[in-house]
Amino acid sequence: MILLIDGHSFHYEMENLCRIFFPYQKIHVTKEPCGDPFTVYTGLRRKDGAITLFARVKFNGWEKSAEDSISENEDQSEPEQERRMAVVLFGLLVEYCGFTPKWGIMTGIRPVKLMRLTAAETGLEQAMTDFREKFLVSPEKTELCRRTMRNEEKLLKLSHSESFSLYISIPFCPTRCAYCSFVSSSVEKTMKMIPEYLSLLCRELAHTAEIAKDLHLRLESVYVGGGTPTTLSAEQLETLLATVNRCFDLTFCREFTVEAGRPDTISPEKLNALKSGGVTRISINPQTLNDAVLNRIGRRHTTAQTLSAFALARSLGFGNINMDLIVGLPGDTLPSFRSTMDGVLRLDPESVTVHTLALKRSSSIFQDESRPAENEAELPAQMLEYADRRLAEHGYEPYYLYRQSRMVGNLENTGWAKPGFESPYNVYIMDETHSILACGAGASTKLRDPNSERIERIFNFKYPYEYISRFEEMMSRKDQVKAVYGQFHHI
Ligand code: SF4
Repeated sequence: MILLIDGHSFHYEMENLCRIFFPYQKIHVTKEPCGDPFTVYTGLRRKDGAITLFARVKFNGWEKSAEDSISENEDQSEPEQERRMAVVLFGLLVEYCGFTPKWGIMTGIRPVKLMRLTAAETGLEQAMTDFREKFLVSPEKTELCRRTMRNEEKLLKLSHSESFSLYISIPFCPTRCAYCSFVSSSVEKTMKMIPEYLSLLCRELAHTAEIAKDLHLRLESVYVGGGTPTTLSAEQLETLLATVNRCFDLTFCREFTVEAGRPDTISPEKLNALKSGGVTRISINPQTLNDAVLNRIGRRHTTAQTLSAFALARSLGFGNINMDLIVGLPGDTLPSFRSTMDGVLRLDPESVTVHTLALKRSSSIFQDESRPAENEAELPAQMLEYADRRLAEHGYEPYYLYRQSRMVGNLENTGWAKPGFESPYNVYIMDETHSILACGAGASTKLRDPNSERIERIFNFKYPYEYISRFEEMMSRKDQVKAVYGQFHHI
């Protein structure tokens, strides 16, 4: 589809807005009119001190225009122009598509943080009113945001100025899922790198622990993610965890999570290695309990494997298990999602994270010809509605929430947990509460100044082959951590 931009520079926001309604369309943004059958036009004109904003949607014989005007007595700042233009276009797209996206025109990735900052300035009631009236967020999502904010506050209070968390990246998977934009397609090739990768990762961990010690930092949580960390063998997991235990002071550590991810990578030996390595929380991620959908998305495991991996983890004493689900998967239906949700609730995990499918360009789903029709952007919203209701009925509370770009329907990912089983790491990373020292390929260290909102980032190389071949260069980059902390003046 063609998106025409006339007289303004809000193309990024307008494109994002169009994508909410047409997640599978390729959007061509242009300043030149052309003859495509589907055109969205947005324009801005100034006259006599007033600013007029126009929008027009024209598709297959359906055509409608709308406009708004900002007088010279009103706020004419660029963000306000952009917001009001988004409101005009949003109204037309709602009318054409016949559904109202739940987050309105809000496209930022941290709505909870926005609510907290706004509430600190204007009070909670006003912040919630702004969500509903300025950004057209639905009352349910506004309330979800409020509840999440309240629940995460408990964890935020536990963080101190010297706190940090540790992230360890294991960017390997046994096969590649169709919706993945993360792992490279040549899985077999990268798997051969694991031994060398692991030995360098252990060196990076030891070096990072030295830095943390020198800076008198206090470790609050450890998160091993990926990829699928349990792609490593039991012996390799033992080596990794022994390194963490040997190098870091875990006295104050509240959480040690390992994403066990794909159920087809879980074995009694690996779970025992996690248990004896001090892991307190694992994540077993079915994504769906529908085998046909699993097959369609290229996840090479079955529902039966999920159920037996979960039972195995319980039998080995894991009392804090998270399960990840995804709404909006190709081939999934509302009844099928309901049955997945109910099946997960029967397992009674301590936490459930409900993701919305994100359509990354590099994933094979994005190019899938049998993808859902345009109006199916509404289906994930109905799935989330069901998930939120059932989780709340079963005593789970939302405690972290975030969004990514290109999420179907502009929806959200929400972490739900039973009281006391919230993952502090998830809150800290999302809120940017304190520094995250990150190790491994693709990991990014975020250094947060405890006395301000300032954040500095240090990136590791993205792919395992770069991580291995340019390791020394990366390690010297890591030494910047001390220099940056020196500038923070808090030590
Ligand atoms: S398990 Fe996750 S990281 Fe691995 S291929 Fe699938 S989506 Fe990608």
